[in-house]
Amino acid sequence: MSDVSATAIVEITAPTWGRASKASWEKTIGAFLIVAAVPTWLHMNWIALEQYNGSITAALRAASAEGPITFAFRHFPQFSLQAMLGYAFWLLLQAFFYGYLPGTLCYGQRTPGGHLLTYTANGLLAWAITHVLFIGGSVAGMIDPAMIAKHWEGLLVAVNTYGFVLAILAQWKGYWAPSFPEDRKISGSVIFDFWAGVELNPRFGKYWDFKFFHNGRPGIVAWTLIDFSWAAYQYQRLGHVTWSMIIVSMFHLIYVIDFFYNEDWYTRTIDISHDHFGFMLAWGDTTFLPCLYTLQVQYLARYPTYLSRTQSLALLAFGLTGYAIFRSANFQRDYVRARDGKCQLWGKQVQFIRCKYTTSDGKEHQSLLLTSGWWGVSRHANYMADLMQAWAMCATCGFTHFLPWSYFFFMSILLYHRSLRDEKRCHSKYGKHWEEYCRQVPYRIVPGIF
Ligand code: NDP
Repeated sequence: MSDVSATAIVEITAPTWGRASKASWEKTIGAFLIVAAVPTWLHMNWIALEQYNGSITAALRAASAEGPITFAFRHFPQFSLQAMLGYAFWLLLQAFFYGYLPGTLCYGQRTPGGHLLTYTANGLLAWAITHVLFIGGSVAGMIDPAMIAKHWEGLLVAVNTYGFVLAILAQWKGYWAPSFPEDRKISGSVIFDFWAGVELNPRFGKYWDFKFFHNGRPGIVAWTLIDFSWAAYQYQRLGHVTWSMIIVSMFHLIYVIDFFYNEDWYTRTIDISHDHFGFMLAWGDTTFLPCLYTLQVQYLARYPTYLSRTQSLALLAFGLTGYAIFRSANFQRDYVRARDGKCQLWGKQVQFIRCKYTTSDGKEHQSLLLTSGWWGVSRHANYMADLMQAWAMCATCGFTHFLPWSYFFFMSILLYHRSLRDEKRCHSKYGKHWEEYCRQVPYRIVPGIF
């Protein structure tokens, strides 16, 4: 244990940690630009896949030649009642599973307002039942396994509509009917509030958690189902499924099962513990995630790549190593905190910094910052491991087009920005003990480099 852990903490930071309380005009403009740009980007990807042989640059050139308005009118995805009803059914089914399937009761992280909320982790069961129904129905010939792929255009409209409506509702609820007023933030900018969210943990009643449901269920349960459907689409087109499709779907499958298997851990990650529920999470998890995270399979179904045996094995080895680090780093933090540091990692006594923080009710709480294991290698080794997996996923599509690499570039920006946000928050929460941690573990993400 470090020296600092043994000493009493003199300065305790005020509970200013959490998302920004006030929005500057730069933040407001930034939020506006993101809300306008990211849905456009999502649609451009679809247009490029459908009409421009998977080339985003060709689509952009056409948009600039035709003019953006004409281009948008000519290519905008069409509404489909069938897809809209199908998506409504999907949401109700997942809401039913979330509300009624048995699960383990688990605790989130203490909020700035001092609440310690409970969640029912039943995502793995919901995921399994959904997949048994869909794959079983396909094998029995009752449904076309490629139906999601074939209705993708209409589904794009449906998920976008829902994502926007949900974000508007979340903002309205945050202003007028907050579940936990002590944990809400009103920045003074309606646009920034729309983007970043007002409420931390909006709920229906005591238990039905808006954020927990939307972050995991409609998007992440769908992720592997979408993969399966695009693989079936590829099979129907080509008469076979390529190894590249199988490998990327397998990486996704591992990632998704890991998420639901460790749903209890997820309640203590930044999404649930610190991010407020606004457009970023509402639209992001219901719309952006299922559309962007599945780009590789959407691309491969139309433009297959053929990997050699050596390439396949190299990608598998790299991606699985990334996964092993990801899981181990994420496990270590929870494991050590649950044992209050009285345990070993990698065969040695755990090293950590003990710290305290206060919540807005004035109460003092204890925590610890791990300085050994992966958390002693770099401050976000779990992000580095996530990027290794993202790289392996995208590399299954080859190196000829940018579009299927969007996921890797997006994750690099997201995780870099997240590390900045997180460290700012940790600094205001733990003060000099965070500085001591940064001194002991100088690398942010990639050890020895950055
Ligand atoms: P982390 O799980 O990395 O949690 C960060 C928090 O851990 C900090 O806010 C702090 O919270 C605590 N902490 C920081 N340093 C230490 C330490 N040394 N010892 C103990 N606790 C520490 O954050 P994320 O939620 O961002 O990531 C979780 C996983 O999800 C990552 O593997 C990430 O790659 C992945 N992810 C995936 C995304 C995707 O879209 N695929 C998106 C975002 C994340 P506290 O207040 O508790 O001290």
